[in-house]
This record gives sequence, C-alpha cells and structure tokens, in this order.
Amino acid sequence: MTRVFSGVKPTGHLTLGNYLGAMRQWAAVDQHRAEALFCVVDLHALTVDHDPARVRRLSRQAATLLLAAGLDPRLCTVFVQSHVDEHARLSYLLECVATDGEMRRMIQYKEKAAREQRRGGSVRLSLLTYPVLMAADILAYGADEVPVGDDQAQHVELTRDLAVRFNQRYGHAFVVPRATHPTVAARVMNLQEPLAKMGKSDDTGPGIVYLLDEPDVVRKKVMRAVTDSGREVVYDRESRPGVANLLEILAACTGGNPEALAGAYESYGALKADTAEAVVEVLRPVQERHKELCADPGHVEGVLRDGAERARGMARPTVDAAYRAIGL
Ligand code: ADP
Repeated sequence: MTRVFSGVKPTGHLTLGNYLGAMRQWAAVDQHRAEALFCVVDLHALTVDHDPARVRRLSRQAATLLLAAGLDPRLCTVFVQSHVDEHARLSYLLECVATDGEMRRMIQYKEKAAREQRRGGSVRLSLLTYPVLMAADILAYGADEVPVGDDQAQHVELTRDLAVRFNQRYGHAFVVPRATHPTVAARVMNLQEPLAKMGKSDDTGPGIVYLLDEPDVVRKKVMRAVTDSGREVVYDRESRPGVANLLEILAACTGGNPEALAGAYESYGALKADTAEAVVEVLRPVQERHKELCADPGHVEGVLRDGAERARGMARPTVDAAYRAIGL
C-alpha cells in the first residue's frame, strides 16, 4: 500500500492556506487511499526565535486542528515529531550525506534567513539544516508520497537527492519519495500582499485568515483584501494577483473553477462577499469539531500517544538499518 507522510509546523496559528492547500486533502483523500502519517513537526518550530510555552500550546492546537479537519486516527497516524526520537537520529545521518552548498541554495532558507537578519536577529544553524530534518521525517517512514503545497517542492526534491545518494553510497536503505500537489489551492496568497504566500509564520496580519478566526473576522479580512484598480472580474494571476487569489479561494471552497467563476461576477464587492461566506462555511465544521475536541483533552492526548507509538514502530527498523549501513 502507498505510504504517505506530511506535516504542519507549529510556528503560528494554522491558516486557510494550510487547510485548503494541505489538511483538507489529507482528510478527504489521502487517509482513505494510503497508509498515511500526519505529524505536528514541532522540532521545526525551533529553527526561528521561539517562546517555549507558545510552541507547546501551538503544537497541541495544531494536533487538535488536524483531528478537527477530519483526520481519523482509525484510518491514519497522527502524532507529534518530538515524541519520536527517530527523526533526530536519522537527521544526523543525513547531515553526513548532505552538503553545505545544497542547504544554502534552498529558497525558504534564503528568505527566512534574510527576514531574521532584517529583524536584527541571528540565523540559527537549525534553520540551515531544516530541510535535512524534513528529509529524515519523510525517509524514516519509507513514505512514497509527500502531499504538500507548492512551497515545499524544493525540500522534497532535496529529500529525493539525499535518499538516492545514501542508497548509492551505503546500500539501499530508503524509499525515494515524490511530492504530490493539490490540484486546487496549491498556493493560497496573503490577502494584503497577493504576491506572498499566506503563511502562518508571518506576523499576525490582516491578510491571513486563521482557521479559528470568528466568522466576522473572516468577513472583515476578505472584504478588505487588496485587489487592484480595475473593475472587471477576470482570472489573471500575473496582472491581477489579488483577484485571482480570491477566485481561487472561492473555487477551492465551493468546488468551482476560478476562470468560470470570474465570468459570474460583475464587481469585486460581490466576489469578496461570496468568497467571505464560502470561507466562513468551510471553516464552520472545523471550528465546531475543534471546540468539541478542546472539551475532551484526554482524547487528544490519547490519540497522540498511540500515534507516537505506532510511528516509532514504523520508523525504528528503517533508521536502525541506516545506522548499520553507514558503518555504526
Ligand atoms: P507554513 O508554516 O508555511 O504555514 P507548514 O510548513 O506548516 O506551513 O505547511 C503545512 C502544509 O500546508 C504544507 O503542505 C504546505 O505546503 C501547506 N501550505 C502552507 N501554506 C500554504 C498556502 N498559503 N497555500 C497552500 N498550501 C499551504
């Protein structure tokens, strides 16, 4: 059976981008068709300036939201990365296979390192090695597929390179995985800066819709989305990125097609109003389920404990074999 691995980083509150671009597919498709593991990758949250209590709180919230989004522990494995030592164990071995140059070429590293420096902070070494830990997350489980948004494509490519290189040098140890991208909403953009991804790690901004935003907050954010000075609603990512983003969000929420939807609107106002309502409706069941789960913290804890145990059982033989292969 195909094995699938993916994760979310608890660096901020989860966004509409995380949901439409990833979690919704995991719940609706991946957990049913494959042996799937979904992980709150909390070690990755330590790569930038962080507050320990906040990371712990956000990890718990992210895990709860994964379940609220429909991941079913009877169908898939939901767990927290730091509960399974194999990720860090394997990451070190892969650091011995990866090169400094290939790490520095990663686009996300360049962007995030520049951001840290602009803020006057220093760049943690773990930010540079982050893609190696991500490779370990994937390779430890022998995942065939990694369903991720477009922004992660380069990291999965690196994972493939490391797997192939390790296998060639030390004997076959890893499955070479491939990224799969959603056909809709692969890249939900920031409502205020439509050329930038709607990313939760950015500062709380009016351009980011969070999964736990109240309906009125969602409406306000969508109604204030930046468009352009044109009037006609056309779908053109290049010259009308703001409008294209709204059309894509609306299409992702209602199951339509952005180009066809464009023809149905005569004004930006009407498009925004419908998009806002569509987002509110998509988030409603997730928020309701989240509330129920928060009332039963023991349940979430139990799911994460079982998930970690199952994940450990899957990862350990692969990581042990890699240790032997490399000469330890
Ligand atoms: P980030 O910190 O950028 O929010 P994560 O690394 O936690 O994201 O990503 C979790 C999943 O959500 C990944 O598969 C990622 O590709 C996807 N994702 C994140 N932001 C977006 C977005 N704006 N549009 C589409 N998919 C996204």
